[in-house]
Amino acid sequence: MNLITSIKSLIEIYIKMINFLDLQKINAQYAEELKKVASEVIDSGWYLLGERVKQFENKLADYIGVKDTITCANGLDALRLILRAYIEMDVMSEGDEVIVPANTYIASILAISDNNLKPVLVEPDINTYNLDISKIEQHITNRTRAIMIVHLYGRVCWNQELEELAKKYKLKIIEDNAQAIGAEWNKRKTGSLGDAAGFSFYPGKNLGALGDAGAATTNDKDLASIIRVLTNYGSEEKYINAYKGLNSRMDEIQAAFLSVKLNYLDAENKKRLEIAKLYCKNIKNKNIILPEIPNDNEHVFHLFVIRCKERNRLQKYLTENGVQTLIHYPVPPHKQKAYKEINYLSLPITEKIHQEVLSLPINSGLNLMEIKKVSNLLNLFR
Ligand SMILES: *Cc1c(COP(=O)(O)O)cnc(C)c1O
Repeated sequence: MNLITSIKSLIEIYIKMINFLDLQKINAQYAEELKKVASEVIDSGWYLLGERVKQFENKLADYIGVKDTITCANGLDALRLILRAYIEMDVMSEGDEVIVPANTYIASILAISDNNLKPVLVEPDINTYNLDISKIEQHITNRTRAIMIVHLYGRVCWNQELEELAKKYKLKIIEDNAQAIGAEWNKRKTGSLGDAAGFSFYPGKNLGALGDAGAATTNDKDLASIIRVLTNYGSEEKYINAYKGLNSRMDEIQAAFLSVKLNYLDAENKKRLEIAKLYCKNIKNKNIILPEIPNDNEHVFHLFVIRCKERNRLQKYLTENGVQTLIHYPVPPHKQKAYKEINYLSLPITEKIHQEVLSLPINSGLNLMEIKKVSNLLNLFR
């Protein structure tokens, strides 16, 4: 770059809004391959329950390191279907309890209550934002059947203690892996750690489709086959119904897109980690709490979440200076109108997190100058 063009691009960055997430820019990197597979699907005349879904399921199973992957319509359905299948298997029944983090996206909890199971909310660890595993045991009753963990913001929520608890009380562990695809704990990928896991391929997730899509993974053959039947009206043989199922299937076109994008997931996650490290190195403001960067691949930074006592003022300041941020999430599930029966609960750590968190832009579309601009603005915030 000569001097003029570099000054030009510098000015451009300072004038142009930095979007939280620019999906157009991200998918443009793969546009040629995506267009090719899209036209193959169009020409094939086969749009559901076909070869491309099968191929993606095998590819994802290999990547995660599990025996079975069952694709479905979205991440919420993946979690709903896992619990529904356990009910069909008599592993749990209506009114049983499922432990779940209070600090999560509402979908984790919706999957439980939708199956007439009772979500039991447990506080997070203020440093990791993930379920505080040391607080699980005090919530276990004779109705507890499962623990749903959420690898929130892309950070692994797992340890030996969790495995031992599940074994001791004979509980299933279900992973909500919507935000952490590609993350690892002791060289094992999230989605292979528990008894079953739900994935989301919502366009903004680390592995995003060009529409809605989801999947469940497991090593349990019986569970897998029931989930598969449930995704297709509860029917294995056409017009013969073993269960009251759903219609929750992944489109062939989304499976084709996801097979392309899965090839680039590790590179995408690596870029996210690099950006997270740059933010942590460059941002020095004692009023801002940065996320921890754990070892190895224990965080895939779906979100880069900072905390600030004056979160709302900080967000306004960043917007005025051309940086779009989001809040994940502004209202905790137990304070939502949808859950008025548990609005009385007091979960101070969760509530504090919801008041103070702010998510900075983090994705492969960001360049070095944009990261510096965001960091500098944060350093100047008083
Ligand atoms: C995105 C998400 C879901 C739901 O996935 P959808 O595909 O949008 O239905 C579930 N849990 C968490 C933690 C999520 O972030």
